[in-house]
Amino acid sequence: MFDLQNIRKQFPILSRKINGKDLVYLDNAATSHKPLHVLDSWQKYYTEINANVHRGIHTLSQIATEEMEHSRRKVQKFINAKNDFEVIFTKGTTEGLNLIAYSLNNLVKADDEIIISHLEHHSNIVPWQMLCERTGAKLKVIPMDENGVLQLDFLDKNLSEKTKIVSVNQVSNALGIINPIEEIISKTRANSNAITVVDGAQSVPHQKIDVQKMGCDFFVFSGHKMYAPMGTGILYGKEEILRKINPFHGGGEMIATCTFEKTTYADLPFKFEAGTPNVGGNISLGAAIDFMENIGLENIKTHENVLLNYAQKKLLEIDGLKIYGEKAMRTGVVSFNLEGVGISSDVGMILDKMGIAVRTGHHCTQPIMSFFNIAGTVRASFAVYNTLEEIDILADGVRKAQRMLS
Ligand code: PLP
Repeated sequence: MFDLQNIRKQFPILSRKINGKDLVYLDNAATSHKPLHVLDSWQKYYTEINANVHRGIHTLSQIATEEMEHSRRKVQKFINAKNDFEVIFTKGTTEGLNLIAYSLNNLVKADDEIIISHLEHHSNIVPWQMLCERTGAKLKVIPMDENGVLQLDFLDKNLSEKTKIVSVNQVSNALGIINPIEEIISKTRANSNAITVVDGAQSVPHQKIDVQKMGCDFFVFSGHKMYAPMGTGILYGKEEILRKINPFHGGGEMIATCTFEKTTYADLPFKFEAGTPNVGGNISLGAAIDFMENIGLENIKTHENVLLNYAQKKLLEIDGLKIYGEKAMRTGVVSFNLEGVGISSDVGMILDKMGIAVRTGHHCTQPIMSFFNIAGTVRASFAVYNTLEEIDILADGVRKAQRMLS
């Protein structure tokens, strides 16, 4: 049974006061809070295990290795990857995307094309621009309409044998729009040999992921947005491509043999995991998966949809409030501005005085802001522990900010 009060009790930070008021935390797209189960796992690692993995034969090192590999298998199951060695630990989505962009260097030549969408976070734009600079390839962008819906006929017209990579997010962090990722992947497959990359940073916290059903070649996400510690993340890659491409980082752990003349690389996944990993974090990512699975991914999705629909209804009752992407299929996020209030950060600062945490600004998506000809939005984003009462507090707070600023 879905027991919201019991879920909230697992997040000690939610009982904090901010500026003398109960914290209303609606900045979950930036990072979510961590439940006791994850905090305990982190503390247990450092108080009882704390050893480096894979190298030592001593007991603690073996326990650390077993626990981290157990966590890898949990991630494998969580996203339904075919093999555990297709799951690579990273420090987050940004590192995952950069890793892919560097590792694919050899497969991209001058005049090849890389396609992204207008709805991307900067971390799914800049690594591809850098790859284009290194290789002479061209970046193309799937356009969107006024509702933030991607115009997929662009793919029909632009996919060709020149297309080497198509990289799109499953859910937009700025607007919460759910992109038709399976359709994008099947169009790409039908019309090119391009490698498909999915940025799952904003989808993993809210819905069940099945990378085999999705059919993508790569899927990346951050742990810290799904109740795990910061500095954790996952890069999933299909075995045949991971075997073909070069590693991004060189160093310890990722070699099979090393001489001054030549190095051979370790087998998957270690070829892509140079250096000491975030062992405690990676183990605690497994604990975050336990937390989500114990509640049930369908229950999380249903609850968050109730929150989103209620927030949309309450906020649209406010005169002069515009929600961006209002008519599109969305999850987890309401992004809005108040007419006549030029600067979203002013609204954010007033809300903060009332204990309400939202994000304001461009949300690392400047091209989206340019499209709407705005500097930024106020973004409220939800997690499983948020309540309808918190949305009432948000709506009252926005009304108050509007009165103060107009
Ligand atoms: N992609 C999307 C859609 C995001 O929302 C974010 C973070 O907000 C990122 C990528 C980058 O994630 P991180 O900063 O955890 O690497």
